[in-house]
Amino acid sequence: MKFDNIIIGGGLSGLTCGIKLAEQGRKCAIVSSGQSAIHFFSGSFDLLGQVNGEEVSHPIEAIKNLADTHPYQRVGIENIGRLAEEAPQLLNRAGLKFCGKADQNHFVLTPMGVMKPSWLTLDDFTCFDQKHSFPWKKVLILNFSGFLDFHTLFVKDGLKKFEVDSQIKNIAMKAFEAIRKNPSEMRSTNIAKVFDKGDVLDEFVKKANLLSEGFEVIILPSVFGLFNKKVVDELKAKVNKPVVLVPAIPPSVPGIRSQMLLSRRFQELGGTFFMGDNVEEGYFENNRLMDIRTNNHGDIKLEADAFILASGSFYSKGIVATHDKLYEPIFGLDIDGDTDRSQWLDEKFFKDQPYMHFGVKADSNFRALMKGQAIENLYVAGSVLGGANALKEGSGAGISLLTSLHVVEQILK
Ligand SMILES: Cc1cc2nc3c(=O)[nH]c(=O)nc-3n(C[C@H](O)[C@H](O)[C@H](O)COP(=O)(O)OP(=O)(O)OC[C@H]3O[C@@H](n4cnc5c(N)ncnc54)[C@H](O)[C@@H]3O)c2cc1C
Repeated sequence: MKFDNIIIGGGLSGLTCGIKLAEQGRKCAIVSSGQSAIHFFSGSFDLLGQVNGEEVSHPIEAIKNLADTHPYQRVGIENIGRLAEEAPQLLNRAGLKFCGKADQNHFVLTPMGVMKPSWLTLDDFTCFDQKHSFPWKKVLILNFSGFLDFHTLFVKDGLKKFEVDSQIKNIAMKAFEAIRKNPSEMRSTNIAKVFDKGDVLDEFVKKANLLSEGFEVIILPSVFGLFNKKVVDELKAKVNKPVVLVPAIPPSVPGIRSQMLLSRRFQELGGTFFMGDNVEEGYFENNRLMDIRTNNHGDIKLEADAFILASGSFYSKGIVATHDKLYEPIFGLDIDGDTDRSQWLDEKFFKDQPYMHFGVKADSNFRALMKGQAIENLYVAGSVLGGANALKEGSGAGISLLTSLHVVEQILK
């Protein structure tokens, strides 16, 4: 099977590449073995929240303080500024709506009840201008009886710092009894599926409106609108107090919806999505990747003019660490990481952990290196690239989105 471009990995990075290439008329395929980090998505795409331990207000401006080896520096500050304008437009076209902008971080309320800086936040959630204050003083934190994945006490404790008077209440819903056959079955996605059916929301709203008398705002776990975002809009329209949704423990309802919208956009543009298929190896000739072999396709070769490796970091097995080695499992590409295992970790848990910076080595055009040589038509994008501690910096989605857009520009040149 022959395509113009094949992307390995169907997470945020692979889908961004696929959508942009397909929008430019390229015949594209994405091969993805499984779930991506978007299934664990908080609802906020981070660009840059922290540099050298200092919180960042203006991410684009702060990029100059990052190491030269950081993916943003390698893309170039001017390019980052431009691509950071393009990224939300691409996501909008897939049906994702946000608040936030690249030159100024906003804040979102986390499940720990603290305000965290971010770049783009899905419009399910509330964007705040201030880190150290909360606009309401009498707050109702509402949960569903038996739902263990929303830790109301953390939220309540966190809100104390803002001198907020908050109270926790639970709502029992008959419709949820059937999904709670055992303690682990009542997950956010189970609840969202019930709400998606439509007839339960009104009962919930009635109860929430009664309980919220005397409060200014209701905080709820984000368990609305798995397949249909309209449920979130309807909830906010029908509840007679402002509603602030807070991420629950994954699986993430808005994350799964976002992944579905992005996949749908890619396929509507004519892209081919091989879901549940694992790329196992590639055949190289004269420094070019000629084709890849996958688990499901067996002997059928998947050929392309250019390939993009967007297989994620450790979490998605884009790179793998065993007791004695660190490697890229599909092609055996060069890894940017220490070979001495004793250097992988800092024993102080909250320090910048060296292993978080590990990734596949790439040249200045983001082409993968193998034995020190750039593979002419194999590009690297997203969290499989090294050079950043996305968790510590709050830069995960930004790196995935912006390196992907940049890599596609290299391919389209
Ligand atoms: C659990 C978790 C939660 C996160 N939450 C956030 C957040 O809320 N906000 C934020 O800004 N950042 C977050 N991040 C940072 C995250 O890295 C980026 O946001 C981004 O989603 C990563 O996208 P990616 O496409 O590079 O990688 P991934 O999302 O990891 O996707 C890689 C894909 O490649 C596939 N793959 C791997 N190997 C193969 C193979 N051999 N063949 C075929 N397919 C393969 C995997 O199945 C997966 O689908 C989170 C990271 C993690 C790990």
